[in-house]
Amino acid sequence: MRVTLLGTIGWMPSDRRETTCFACRAEDSLFIFDAGTGLRRLREPAQAALLDGARDIHLFLTHYHLDHVCGLAYLAGVLPGRALVIHAPAAELNGVDPEGALAGLLRRPYNPRDWEELTDLRVEPVVAGANEIAGHTVSVRAQQHSDVSVAYRLDDAFVLATDTRADPATAEFAAGVGLLLHEAWFNDADPRTTQMPAELLPGYAAHSEAGAVAGLAAAAGVGRLVPIHLNPLHDESYYAALEASARAVFPRTDVLPDGAVVDTDGVR
Ligand SMILES: [Zn+2]
Ligand SMILES: [Zn+2]
Repeated sequence: MRVTLLGTIGWMPSDRRETTCFACRAEDSLFIFDAGTGLRRLREPAQAALLDGARDIHLFLTHYHLDHVCGLAYLAGVLPGRALVIHAPAAELNGVDPEGALAGLLRRPYNPRDWEELTDLRVEPVVAGANEIAGHTVSVRAQQHSDVSVAYRLDDAFVLATDTRADPATAEFAAGVGLLLHEAWFNDADPRTTQMPAELLPGYAAHSEAGAVAGLAAAAGVGRLVPIHLNPLHDESYYAALEASARAVFPRTDVLPDGAVVDTDGVR
């Protein structure tokens, strides 16, 4: 399976990177994970193959923070006329009714049309554990963040774990997958980490440190670690240093640009 990185930064887009969004083709189905600003990259000619011949489209949401859902405002332009199944965490996972949350977001005056008018969209909540979707097993687990988020595992191909603290349970959840897409918000080895407005630093507790993430990748025995949801207050040189710190713990770590395609059967 091949995963296309449509958005690899968190919070706000930069001139190079869009906020969180990943896509892969699973036979005739298109699976999209999170709907950050990166969703707009589906319009790029280089991504045409993702949509070409896709019979059904499934969008999986990790949580409702705006950097992960603002692309929902682009759906009519990115996927015109296409029906979409939105898989959001069931209320038992995060205390949020998925249909209510989406209807609250996609309504006037924030959106030109109300949720009830968006008949191409359908919600199918995902529950903790295994969910069978379009012939694949999509596993879900709740994570600790400033609000509850969920990690996704698609078969043995990949795990997406973003907007979470580095959690030893993630290693168990991701055991043996080909690719771990894990957030890495900061790098303790880099002095630039603490040269930030002081009011932002407590927020780091809701996110992951690069070396700790690499430790999870090693414990899980994944094929490859790709740090994502990078911190937009830093620059590419910071991400390169973050990659070096992670590689010292888990050598098969690569910080990749938006648009990169990662084969989940790649490095072992
Ligand atoms: Zn985020
Ligand atoms: Zn978040």
